[in-house]
Amino acid sequence: MDFGLAGKRALVCAASKGLGRACALALAEEGVDVTITARGQEALDVTAEAIRQATGAAVTAVAGDITTAEGREVALSACPSPDILINNAGGPPPGNFRDWDRDDWVGAVDANMITPILLIRSVVDGMIDRGFGRIVNITSGAVKAPIAILGLSNGARSGLTGFVAGVAREVAQHGVTINNLLPGQFETDRLVANFEATAKAAGTSAEEVRQSRQQANPTRRFGDPAEFGATCAFLCSRQAGYINGQNLLLDGGLYPGTF
Ligand code: NAP
Repeated sequence: MDFGLAGKRALVCAASKGLGRACALALAEEGVDVTITARGQEALDVTAEAIRQATGAAVTAVAGDITTAEGREVALSACPSPDILINNAGGPPPGNFRDWDRDDWVGAVDANMITPILLIRSVVDGMIDRGFGRIVNITSGAVKAPIAILGLSNGARSGLTGFVAGVAREVAQHGVTINNLLPGQFETDRLVANFEATAKAAGTSAEEVRQSRQQANPTRRFGDPAEFGATCAFLCSRQAGYINGQNLLLDGGLYPGTF
């Protein structure tokens, strides 16, 4: 299937590793020119080169913290009028809400709600003028099935989800769609680091945590970031133009509801 994306421009935030990287690679495979960001220059440059080698696409790498005004400015200077925006950033830390003060909450809301909203604001009118745009926000399965120790994520990402639900209906008449992708457990550096932290707290091994989590999933495995990237590329395709304002859970069926 030709997704009709050749020659489009994408800004993919937080994309030197993991899910962001997978989205950038999948878009580049469709002939999209991608601008990728991350804080660490070294891994970012390695990823940019790997995507160029694998796809032949034009890849621009811009180092910066996307949750800061400066980071957003350099990203948007490198890719001022994207046809596709993939919003992503690191997630807030786990913990007990009794230990979080106002600064913790402001930090989470800033990174996982306000940052993507400001990026949407910066690019959406250009998309409207051009009559085509795709915005995909990487959020979390925790938006649909909250996890108590991820309270900062549950709260901040739900705020973004509510905002997107409204604005997606406003822009769709101009050929612009906005959707959220909700990852369950995908095998990224972040997930593996999480096994180690969980194992330490529970007095078990990271391998045991891995096995038990895999067994708990209907697929008996974790998601492959490439599967996530391919789903993202499809949501950005011409064919997906009637998918708008949705929250798509990619969790192997772990969420037990009928809908
Ligand atoms: P990951 O493997 O740790 O990769 C995170 C990427 O984002 C790296 O390239 C990192 O590079 C970059 N990054 C992090 N903070 C950034 C910032 N402030 N500005 C710019 N770049 C930044 O993580 P992941 O597993 O792909 O997770 C991506 C998002 O999905 C996170 O918000 C996570 O909470 C959420 N999520 C993931 C899963 C999962 O199973 N993997 C499940 C639910 C939700 P630098 O560190 O160099 O900046």
